Amino acid sequence: MNLHDSEIVAGQLARLGYELVDAPDSADAVFVNTCTVREHAKLRGLARLRELSGLKRRRPEVFVAAMGCVASEERTRLFETLPFLDAVIPTDQVTQVSRFLSEQRADFGPSEALTAETPRLRFSSFKACVTIITGCNMDCTYCIVPRTRGREKSRPLPDVLREVDSLVLAGYREILFLGQTVNAYGDDLGPMPADSWFTELLRETDRRFSGGRVRFLSPHPGKLTDDLISAWPDLGSLCEHIHLPVQSGSDRILRRMKRFYTRESFLRKVGALRRAMPDIAITTDVIVGFPGETEEDFRQTLSLCEEVGFDAAYMYLYSPRSGTAATRLKDPSPPHDVAVDRHASLAEVQSAHTRASLARQVGRVVEVLFEGPAREGGLFGKSRAFHTVVADLPLTEVGRVVPVRVERVAGTSLRASIPSAVPSCAA
Ligand code: SF4
Repeated sequence: MNLHDSEIVAGQLARLGYELVDAPDSADAVFVNTCTVREHAKLRGLARLRELSGLKRRRPEVFVAAMGCVASEERTRLFETLPFLDAVIPTDQVTQVSRFLSEQRADFGPSEALTAETPRLRFSSFKACVTIITGCNMDCTYCIVPRTRGREKSRPLPDVLREVDSLVLAGYREILFLGQTVNAYGDDLGPMPADSWFTELLRETDRRFSGGRVRFLSPHPGKLTDDLISAWPDLGSLCEHIHLPVQSGSDRILRRMKRFYTRESFLRKVGALRRAMPDIAITTDVIVGFPGETEEDFRQTLSLCEEVGFDAAYMYLYSPRSGTAATRLKDPSPPHDVAVDRHASLAEVQSAHTRASLARQVGRVVEVLFEGPAREGGLFGKSRAFHTVVADLPLTEVGRVVPVRVERVAGTSLRASIPSAVPSCAA
């Protein structure tokens, strides 16, 4: 979502006559897009901003702005601690760059809705991000997002479809629908169509983009509807991959996180997804060391990961975000070394499942959208199931969908060759 916000800022700057350059030293304006989802991300953004103080001393005319979630949350503090900043731009005002450029330290104004017509400078010519809903109404107790991005606001369906049409016309191969809770799309749009608004959007997109690829990020497990699961096998454009953040396998911790689903209901949805699409890849996020997490709670998380056998998992140590409800919970987090040990055991369990998921691909012909040169030579890209695949292909194949045969697992990716019987049929 931050990446796409940067594309929106770059789009407006392009309209004003600016061009992208490779390094801050040769720029007239520098924007640092910050993230506050974890402490580490926040510190990195602040460090990048601090690094710009030397540039500003050498060339005071350079415009330097902080944007993103840290900007939304800490305008006054940013101006105090980084006095050379010219602007602090919150996430809901990325469409108003010209105002921030022209007014010295402009105040936050009213938010402005994104539309299909909002200028965007897309960083890829074949993969496009489309934000369909901003904000989040869920209030998970560990999460800062509702404070930095506000309440849910869905774009009207016809407006999203206009953007889809323009992407199809421009020859894009893949569309990634984005939202903090992407499958809450439409909950604020009034009476639903026959299926949920989100399913309706995917159906309409499939009609327009039948040869393309569609993904979405990130769905909330509690909002994964039966109508989407049953429609999915007929939606040829919708890739066979879902990133479904479970966060914990313990009902007690899920309640404390206010996730509004249980271990059992999560497992039921995984079962329904696999019955509808036996080859679907399921990836997840897990938080280890949440306040009050006992050994038994952690065991439940381990056993859920064993039971599901996720294709991949992003595992994080709990990072307290100031102002969130979790920081006020009475039970403390487990000691750091205990949390680190638990994280290591979970990583060990998960890596066996990740390896098994990769090994299952060997011998298959999979469609890969090639994205760029691989370090080891050839090109890398993503299969529909979101595995990273490397094949000996020339640069001319970047941005094309090519069927390849998976030969072997190489670390965390797959090596593939071009099957002679299948012509390289770019989509
Ligand atoms: S659903 Fe996601 S974005 Fe919303 S509060 Fe929970 S973790 Fe944060």
